[in-house]
Amino acid sequence: MTYVPVVDPYECSAHGDCVEVAPEVFQLEDVAVVIGSGPPELILKAAESCPAVAISVVDDETGEAVFP
Ligand code: SF4
Repeated sequence: MTYVPVVDPYECSAHGDCVEVAPEVFQLEDVAVVIGSGPPELILKAAESCPAVAISVVDDETGEAVFP
């Protein structure tokens, strides 16, 4: 199972919560960008930590939206 996070740059407020939760997955530039991958639980935890709900998560195998 592979979860792929997608950051909406127009919603991201760049405070970095996702980077704190998963620094190997997200990096803060002008907004957060995805730089890597990680276990599904970590991707979900990072998405749930985003106060702007700017991170959506897709199951790479089924193409289904997992979050939000
Ligand atoms: S937690 Fe959300 S708002 Fe904050 S930097 Fe990450 S994507 Fe942007």
